[in-house]
Amino acid sequence: MKRIGVLTSGGDSPGMNAAVRAVVREAIYQNLEVYGIFHGYSGLISGNIEKMELGSVGDIIHRGGTILYSARCEEFKTEEGQRKGVEQLKKFGIEGLVVIGGDGSYRGAQMLTKSGFPTICLPGTIDNDIPGTDYTIGFDTALNTVIDAIDKIRDTATSHERTYIIEVMGRNAGDIALWSGLAGGAETILIPEQEFMMEDIVNRLKRGHDRGKKHSIIVVAEGVGSGVDIASQVKEATGYETRVSVLGYIQRGGSPTAFDRVLASRLGAKAVQMLINGSEGRAVGIQRNRLVDHDISEVLAKPHEIDIDMYQLSKELSI
Ligand code: ADP
Repeated sequence: MKRIGVLTSGGDSPGMNAAVRAVVREAIYQNLEVYGIFHGYSGLISGNIEKMELGSVGDIIHRGGTILYSARCEEFKTEEGQRKGVEQLKKFGIEGLVVIGGDGSYRGAQMLTKSGFPTICLPGTIDNDIPGTDYTIGFDTALNTVIDAIDKIRDTATSHERTYIIEVMGRNAGDIALWSGLAGGAETILIPEQEFMMEDIVNRLKRGHDRGKKHSIIVVAEGVGSGVDIASQVKEATGYETRVSVLGYIQRGGSPTAFDRVLASRLGAKAVQMLINGSEGRAVGIQRNRLVDHDISEVLAKPHEIDIDMYQLSKELSI
């Protein structure tokens, strides 16, 4: 293998830049040429491809977003789109590809692998919803952004003796809600993986109220539904003053945490080493602090699982 490519795709996440940097630098360290593909699969189809040098990734390890830009590309879901993508790769003499993105991007990579093009995936999403890795690149940063918001909302919640509903991202996964709720000391955490009854939420709020609690915080994962709806149901059932904060896109931006930078660096370098060693169709991840890799199809076939013990713990500690 002489020349590889790298692209970022789907929803961006903090740490993608650190991963791109690691891919580029490790490739050059290993005497490979490396090409950046801009705007995800869309740039792959149109040939928006440029050679990367050591300096191309200078001064980006600490920056959110992705210098390669990201995109969603419907055309790449078609055979014709994939054929055009492979043609571009061949035209540029690229022999292996690193795709950094979420599960949609993994599906694109799976199709590339099926058409015979060696592809390795890295988990770049704040949602932490990729099976086969304990953490995805960007999850830790998003969590810290949410914690910062919860701490601030807690201050005003105390002053006004109100119930706050904080809606966080995560698509169909509850990881951001669960981890941030536990770390932020939320009274109640609602995640799509666990059913809940409004009656339980109300009883919990009332118990807290009766023993003199000044405020309550409920963290709702977007996969559960709208925080605004939950708030009106809580208000109706309890009569308590409720307020809603939908944190939204601030969770996707910002300088990556040290954890995400280190994770991205380790995974990025590993992806390059795997291409050199002839691997293809693999998804790189981290499990129990060890770098691991699984078949992309295997990862895509598995359902995302939440840490049930942690969910139980969050309930015990917010009794
Ligand atoms: P994420 O990677 O963050 O999950 P998306 O689900 O939007 O984001 O997927 C990103 C891109 O991956 C899509 O816009 C599309 O180009 C590509 N993709 C998604 N699903 C498929 C598929 N089944 N086949 C080929 N490409 C796909």
